Amino acid sequence: MIHLIPSHRSRPSDDPIFSLHRDAVARASKGEKIINATIGVLLDDDGSLSVLPTAARVVHETEAAAWAAYAPIAGTPAFLEAVQNDLLSGEPRLRAASTAVATPGGSGALRHAIANYLEPGQALLTTSYFWAPYKTLADEAERKVATFNMFSADGKLDVDALDRAVAKQIDEQGRVLLFINDPCHNPTGYSMRREEWKQVVERLVPHAERAPITLLVDVAYAAYSAGAPWDHLSELTPLLGKAGLLFAWSASKTFTHYGLRVGALVACVGDDKDRAATQNALAYSSRGTWSNCNAGGQHAITRLLSDPALKAAADAEREVKRQLLLKRVNVFNELAHGKNLNYPRYDGGFFVSVFTDQASEKAAKMRDRGVFVVPITGALRVGLCAVPQQDVAALVEALAV
Ligand code: PLP
Repeated sequence: MIHLIPSHRSRPSDDPIFSLHRDAVARASKGEKIINATIGVLLDDDGSLSVLPTAARVVHETEAAAWAAYAPIAGTPAFLEAVQNDLLSGEPRLRAASTAVATPGGSGALRHAIANYLEPGQALLTTSYFWAPYKTLADEAERKVATFNMFSADGKLDVDALDRAVAKQIDEQGRVLLFINDPCHNPTGYSMRREEWKQVVERLVPHAERAPITLLVDVAYAAYSAGAPWDHLSELTPLLGKAGLLFAWSASKTFTHYGLRVGALVACVGDDKDRAATQNALAYSSRGTWSNCNAGGQHAITRLLSDPALKAAADAEREVKRQLLLKRVNVFNELAHGKNLNYPRYDGGFFVSVFTDQASEKAAKMRDRGVFVVPITGALRVGLCAVPQQDVAALVEALAV
């Protein structure tokens, strides 16, 4: 007899991306030449995990007592300060209005947003292509996911579709929590331009007069964008005092320490009393889920963000990694345009998605050739982050078949 509650009895056994990755690794370990573009971690061109040496050193230097102690429920004050400065120092109005809680990676930040900005049964709104765990996170919190068409005919963010979806959600559920993953959107690779952010905000503000609207910007990949990662921040300031504004911040990619599980949810709230209530609600959620987050991890990341010499060293090392990725992106673009592959503007980031209406069949055929990509609805997700530059040509060849 199974004692699980009925709705949990047929949960899938594994995250599909991890299981594809496992198959790829198993075949490679038997000596087969495999290109594994499934997983979302940055690998060096020799196939080894890319790790910022300064980040690794600082983690190792973190003393036993810093790992062993409980961190405060909301996160250590120095960590929260450092994250908010990292994210918002370019826009003092947002920084002055911000508060934050520590979370286990960006995933934890997304979880808290879903639990605090939607009622049970309501749906978060996001782009039609989205990182699949948004759905898992929503499911687990007994919320849902609704989407709007991501790209208009000219290949830009479809702000008209967004506008219609927001209006529909207001009518149907009386509030909106909008997730936008930018820059370097997972899975499409798309990075919005300043003008597109401006349009998003212009569309949201009038709706925010009718109902509570909260925008969450998932900035998991911001450190790898082709341009300046925080270019669009000033475009978001009109939301202050009108709509909710959240950022899901993650140390996973930023410091190449995915397993450290350090992240934060940052909320910008203009009114002091509302900000305090927001902080209380988020910390309460922490107490009611993971209690407190990795103390040693917060300690290490705080040093990396706030010690000027360490920060400069980590930034310089990350720049080398960013360039490594950009070289792959450039090779991909050059070859993929030659093959007429259909994919969104891709100028940086871990992933790109090549559109196809036969994703599963194509991915299976590619696996026969030893090339692993992730089939998603309407596309194949390609993790260039994990593909050495010398393999990009063979990857494009396989995508073009
Ligand atoms: N958001 C997106 C779009 C992601 O792809 C990821 C990780 O792959 C995350 C958030 C959160 O990652 P983590 O929980 O490791 O910080």
